[in-house]
Amino acid sequence: GWDFKGLLKRNWLLIATIVSVLLGIGLGVVVREYASLSHLHKQYFGFPGEILMRMLKLVILPLIISSMITGVAALDSEVSGKIGLRAVVYYFSTTIIAVILGIVLVMTIKPGVSQEAEHIDRTGTTPNVTTVDTLLDLVRNMFPENLLQACFQQYKTKRKELEPPKVKGNTTITMFPPLSTTVMATIFPPENITKDYKIVGSYSDGINVLGLIVFCVAFGLVIGKMGERGRILLEFFDALNEATMRLVQIIMCYMPVGILFLIAAKIIEVEDWEIFRKMGLYMVTVLSGLAIHSTICLPLIYFAIVRKNPYTFTLGMAQALVTALMISSSSATLPVTFRCAEENLRIDKRITRFVLPVGATINMDGTALYEAVAAIFIAQLNDYSLDVGQIVTISITATVASIGAAGVPNAGLVTMVIVLTAVGLPANDVTLIVAVDWLLDRFRTMINVLGDAYGAGIVQKLSRRELERMDVTSDVDVTNPF
Ligand code: ASP
Repeated sequence: GWDFKGLLKRNWLLIATIVSVLLGIGLGVVVREYASLSHLHKQYFGFPGEILMRMLKLVILPLIISSMITGVAALDSEVSGKIGLRAVVYYFSTTIIAVILGIVLVMTIKPGVSQEAEHIDRTGTTPNVTTVDTLLDLVRNMFPENLLQACFQQYKTKRKELEPPKVKGNTTITMFPPLSTTVMATIFPPENITKDYKIVGSYSDGINVLGLIVFCVAFGLVIGKMGERGRILLEFFDALNEATMRLVQIIMCYMPVGILFLIAAKIIEVEDWEIFRKMGLYMVTVLSGLAIHSTICLPLIYFAIVRKNPYTFTLGMAQALVTALMISSSSATLPVTFRCAEENLRIDKRITRFVLPVGATINMDGTALYEAVAAIFIAQLNDYSLDVGQIVTISITATVASIGAAGVPNAGLVTMVIVLTAVGLPANDVTLIVAVDWLLDRFRTMINVLGDAYGAGIVQKLSRRELERMDVTSDVDVTNPF
């Protein structure tokens, strides 16, 4: 029969989180309706949520370092090469599928065609980001020149003409990641910003994750090859990983509280609900694309390869999915993604340690789908007809843009500019979709995280032979869940 009590007990955290989402929405609506909070008070209101974000971000650094190094060191280099290749093939093919799905939907639904463009405010600056610049920046970030700096790197570019723009008066923006192009345009009116600047690169919030991953893979490979002498390091990082995951477990108990205030504060803060009506069809297109990708495409691939129920898999990831929806960052969700994949789905740690951190940085199906839809939506708004070549260009640049986007809130909106400039669309039109991005970002992040998890499940299945062979020979045991 139904073991209701057991079900409650096993899933109390998930249940508490979902209840807190609902309570948070209710609280937000009530406060919005009956109290007029000042800007400062709104900030106080969001404080418990801010603390949750800070705690989650806090554990990313030790988590990535310890999981990547031990993940790689525990495998021999031949096996890790194979697993890596499988992961990359998976990332790439699912991203392309997402892009194609997005293009098909947006060309059928045509959300931009009936829109009365003049009703929507379309002012903004014209940033200039090219695909080459993004690719160069991506590779540049893979090789941090300073390991410590990579742990808190903000944004880096080598091109001379890319000086940060000056704002009239005595304010100078010193840090100017692309994210700010759109955000700044709303904060500072465009006429206050000098025209002659260009921006390239991907925005990263705090940690150069890609750079650290590359370093840890190399370091792990070396440690793995060192034999007895490397063992002490391997054990150190393994213990660090376990300690970090225990910390995550504690943080997760705070999660319902943090999430309640995070969502309530957001609802109080949103200024323009009207825009949702105007942009309704566009949002429907993006959301239905994400829904189809996550409930049909990914599950089909999973089922074809793993031969298990994909929806049980999705359910096992529920906690991570709700978290992603609430905090719109794959990187900050990573600790929870790890826990769900390892504890609920029992995916081999040698796989998760490898596939999840890399996936959170470069595998973004939701973002890729979104970028393709948004670009074509903007083309439709401008009565700009795209030929086949341009549509192919959009699919390729949307893929690149999703790889280049960091796993932080709104990153996809920024790398969007690459897609637009590649086909000659007005890049300042991104300001148009900024207003609804806070909502779409949440949903695409959720799909990004789900895609990473499915990747881990699929790569595990494909690599079962190597893993079994290693179980017989390996002496360092990193498979035991603590
Ligand atoms: N927020 C997304 C993520 O973290 C990236 C994006 O903006 O699309 O996965």
